Amino acid sequence: MKPIEWKVTAQEGNARAGILRTRRSEIETPVFMPVGTQGTVKGVRYEWLENELDARVILGNTYHLFLRPGAEVIRELGGLHKFSTWNRSLLTDSGGFQVFSLTDLRKLTEEGVEFRSHIDGSKRFLSPEVSMEVQAALGSEIVMVFDECPPGDAGFDKTRKSLELTARWAKRSKDRFIELQKSGMDTGFIEAEDLSGRQALFGIVQGAGHLDLRRESLGKTIEIGFDGYAIGGLSVGEEKSVMYEVLEHIAPQMPENAPRYLMGVGTPEDLIEAVHRGVDMFDCVMPTRNGRTGSAFTSRGKLNIRNAKFARDSEPLDEECPCSVCRRYSKAYIRHLYQSGEMLAAILISHHNLAFFLDTMRKVRDAIKLGKFSRFRKDFLEKMRENETTGV
Ligand SMILES: [Zn+2]
Repeated sequence: MKPIEWKVTAQEGNARAGILRTRRSEIETPVFMPVGTQGTVKGVRYEWLENELDARVILGNTYHLFLRPGAEVIRELGGLHKFSTWNRSLLTDSGGFQVFSLTDLRKLTEEGVEFRSHIDGSKRFLSPEVSMEVQAALGSEIVMVFDECPPGDAGFDKTRKSLELTARWAKRSKDRFIELQKSGMDTGFIEAEDLSGRQALFGIVQGAGHLDLRRESLGKTIEIGFDGYAIGGLSVGEEKSVMYEVLEHIAPQMPENAPRYLMGVGTPEDLIEAVHRGVDMFDCVMPTRNGRTGSAFTSRGKLNIRNAKFARDSEPLDEECPCSVCRRYSKAYIRHLYQSGEMLAAILISHHNLAFFLDTMRKVRDAIKLGKFSRFRKDFLEKMRENETTGV
């Protein structure tokens, strides 16, 4: 039996609507996954994520949880589901991205990466095997292979070398993953109807902005074989046009019968453009990170609550948004909270931003099902652009 089940329910061009079933939840795609770096979606209680926002899957970060509180603490407490009380699906990243982007002090070898913890400076080590062991201790539904993430502006030769290492690491990830599943090390195991109850493993396609390297990486990843396929190493500082070009050429070539996941992307416009090119799953820290700096996403573009023009604005953040924040609070009040350094400002804007992202994806799914996605995309992008010029 398989760990996950995936089926496409409607398609318009390359855009797909589908249903992903894991052992813990049924997820309609395209889906946006809120990021819960430290085992919490910053500032948003699980009650809100479950009830009002109805998020079916969130992310956990291996790098952060590995360093604190540590994989063994979480294992002892029964895994990340039990520890955090989040009982729907979890996807955990491999830690690779953080090691290569957050940490200056690191030593890369064939075996893995030695780095210094950003918390206490202690020497730590991550490898494909260690990453799989940590993700088994966390007990997520979807595990990501451990990959090397070269900088977005890396040249051809450097990128090729990197993706060859990533392919070897993907194979080692899968081998260790299979052993861990067999030996019952996955803390999240449950009996599930028609499914194996085990974790699923996704491979990652790298290759920066080089299309032929992307194709090569995709080929190597498919050859190893995974339950789902991700595109990594985009939205890391390259031009938008490069990201869209990679998606345009690579997403439709990814296996049709498996979910496609674009890692760490992006703005609402990016999500729509990626769905248009055949992507099914997304995650990004933007809704909560921007929420903490006073920046709100709305159906008419982005606004910053610090702007003095909102001081007497009795309207909600987004008049079209049905979320509980917009039903109750005004821009003037939220701005006052922000200016006074009240933590509730960040909480309210983060909540609204997540509602906006999840609601946008709901509209995307509905549009694909009705065969009206290309119209929806055009209207959505036009509305966003209009406001860039009027400066909402
Ligand atoms: Zn709202």
